[in-house]
Amino acid sequence: MTYRGRFAPSPTGPLHFGSLVSALASWLDARAHDGAWLVRVEDIDGPRTVPGAAEDILATLERFGMHADAPPVWQSRRIARYQEALNQLKAAGLIYPCGCTRKEIADSLLNAHARNTTLAYPGTCRSGLHGKPARAWRLRVPDGDAAAITFEDRWQGKQTQNLATEVGDFVLRRADDQWAYQLAVVVDDADADITHIVRGADLMDSTARQIYLQRCLGVSTPEYLHVPVVMNEQGEKLSKQNGATALDNDNPLEALSAAARHLGLELDGTAHATLEGFYAAATAAWAARMSARI
Ligand code: GLU
Repeated sequence: MTYRGRFAPSPTGPLHFGSLVSALASWLDARAHDGAWLVRVEDIDGPRTVPGAAEDILATLERFGMHADAPPVWQSRRIARYQEALNQLKAAGLIYPCGCTRKEIADSLLNAHARNTTLAYPGTCRSGLHGKPARAWRLRVPDGDAAAITFEDRWQGKQTQNLATEVGDFVLRRADDQWAYQLAVVVDDADADITHIVRGADLMDSTARQIYLQRCLGVSTPEYLHVPVVMNEQGEKLSKQNGATALDNDNPLEALSAAARHLGLELDGTAHATLEGFYAAATAAWAARMSARI
C-alpha cells in the first residue's frame, strides 16, 4: 500500500490552533509512513467560505514548513464529480428527494422525543414527497441492525454508530443548492486515493455516514484516526466562529511545539530550534507513539 494522507481545511477564516493540530497530525502520520500528504480546500459551502481565507491557510502551511506533495485540490472546481456521484446513487435507487423544511423536521423530532425515541431524520419523504416540492436529496440508510457501522479508529479505538437510529437518511444535496460535506469528502478522498484520514475528533460522528456512502459508491474505505479537539476556555471546540485567533506566522515553532504537546508528543529541547529539527523529532515521536498503540 502506498500511504496517501490529506489535510482538508474549510476556508472560513485563517488557520487557527485547532486546525493546526489536525494539519500537524496528518502531516506527521504521512511522514511516519513515508507517504504522500495532500491538501484539499473545502470551499463548496458557499455561505461559510470567506474570500481570501484559503490563500491565507495555504500560505501559513507553507510558512510552517508543511509542504504538500501535489498542488491543492479545490472542491469548488469539482462540482461535476459530485453531480456524477449523485447520479450514480440516483440510478441505483439509493437516494430520494425530500421536501421537508427544517421546521417540519424539528417538529416531528420533538414528537419523536416526546415518545422517547431517537432524533434521527424520521424518513418522512421515503415514501414520496406528499405533494411538497423537492428541496434536498437524501441517502436511504438500511433499517435495524444492518444500519450499524463499526470501524476501528487508530486513536480512539472501536466505534459503532447505528445510522438508522442515530442519524436517519442523510442529506447529500442540500435544500440551499449546496453539496453536502458528506458527499464531497467521500468523492474527493476516493478520487485522490486517500488511504489514511487523520482529522479532529469533532468529525468522528460523520465517519459512519462516510463509510456507508463509500460502500454505496463502491469505493474503498480508508483508515481513520481522530485526534482530540482543542477546546477553548469555555470548554467548546476551538473554531473560527468562537474567536480562535489566527496563528503567528512569524513564530511557527512556538505554535508547532504547542500543537505537538496537545498530541501528547514528548520532544526534547533541541527539537525546538529549527523547523527541520522539530519535524524530525516530532515524526519520530509520532511513529513511536503509534507503534506503541498497535
Ligand atoms: N473541512 C473539514 C473541516 O475543516 C474537515 C474535513 C475532513 O477532514 O474530513 O472541519
